Amino acid sequence: NRKVVLKSYVTGYPVVEDMEVVADSVELRVPAGVTGVLVKNLYLSCDPWMRGRMSKPQEGAAVSVPPFAIGEALVNYGVCKVVESTHPGFKAGELVWGMSGWEEYTLLTQPEPLLFKITHPELPLSHYSGVLGMTGLTAYSGFVEVGRPKKGDAVFVSAASGAVGQIVGQLAKISGCYVVGSAGSDEKVALLKTKFGYDDAFNYKSEASLAAALKRRFPDGIDLFYDNVGGATLDAALLQMRHGGRVVVCGMISQYNLEEPEGVRNLRVIIPMAVRLEGVNVMDYFHTYARFEEEMAGYIKEGKVKVVEDVVEGIDKAPQALIGLFSGKNVGKQLVVVATD
Ligand code: NDP
Repeated sequence: NRKVVLKSYVTGYPVVEDMEVVADSVELRVPAGVTGVLVKNLYLSCDPWMRGRMSKPQEGAAVSVPPFAIGEALVNYGVCKVVESTHPGFKAGELVWGMSGWEEYTLLTQPEPLLFKITHPELPLSHYSGVLGMTGLTAYSGFVEVGRPKKGDAVFVSAASGAVGQIVGQLAKISGCYVVGSAGSDEKVALLKTKFGYDDAFNYKSEASLAAALKRRFPDGIDLFYDNVGGATLDAALLQMRHGGRVVVCGMISQYNLEEPEGVRNLRVIIPMAVRLEGVNVMDYFHTYARFEEEMAGYIKEGKVKVVEDVVEGIDKAPQALIGLFSGKNVGKQLVVVATD
């Protein structure tokens, strides 16, 4: 059973050498007397939040998830096939998605495994590692439930061509909003305008001033800012918020690798502008998954939501794919295909 393990805890930007692909020879079966599901991992999802689990636990911090164990397979969402099950909810041969290991096979045991059945096999299986999985649920819950968009809202999305961002922009168009995205390359900017239907987009790396770039595109201000980036992007957008605006704090990828996170200098504007700044945690929305899945599957089938995935082949490429998220190497949702069946 080949797996990606963490060699030691990471400080600063992660590098490929922080991880290692190793093999072990554990028996691939559910042990006698254990209630569990043995799955074969097909697609692994690469997600920025994994970086947090690569750091040593911070003393005194209220962390909700523990760090990865050194020498053990990394853990994240993925698409899998049930090989053997002693759990009453799952049968051998079923396709599922949920929390699994970065390895070829994973034994998932009690408490209840976080696994969902795949109910739209007519759609690409890979989508369950992204738009129909945790990523899509994040985009949907953050935008719809936390952002509460209204028709005609002026919406700004950062990391807009990424896994979450591309879905948020398209949901904004479905909701009748004006939507602008920022991304880190001209190729991504072109994708935003031609593929995902953004009204406008810009490359934040080639703008002399983020505040000026936003002012030009939002002369009357921003109603809803869906932020995946934090740092300088959040600071610049705060200055452009309209009275009663909403900021959905989904991610702060610009901060994850810094030893000393930057402060948010313009936070005070939320007082006179009566801006609501609210975080979204996808874990709070898993109970809504079935409803979300039906709605999102419908949008995909109707062509209202288009999906761009960046798929690399083979578990050996997984460490490289993961660290690529932090330099913007991925174009769309970053996945690793370990097996196709
Ligand atoms: P993406 O597919 O968007 O990949 C990450 C992208 O972030 C890169 O491609 C790059 O795009 C951009 N980026 C990387 N480093 C920086 C930087 N220093 N400054 C600005 N941009 C940077 O990832 P996801 O869509 O999976 O995740 C997006 C965000 O959503 C992350 O912050 C993640 O942590 C968060 N998230 C939050 C969840 C929640 O429950 N709150 C759940 C899932 C994700 P570019 O080339 O455009 O710079």
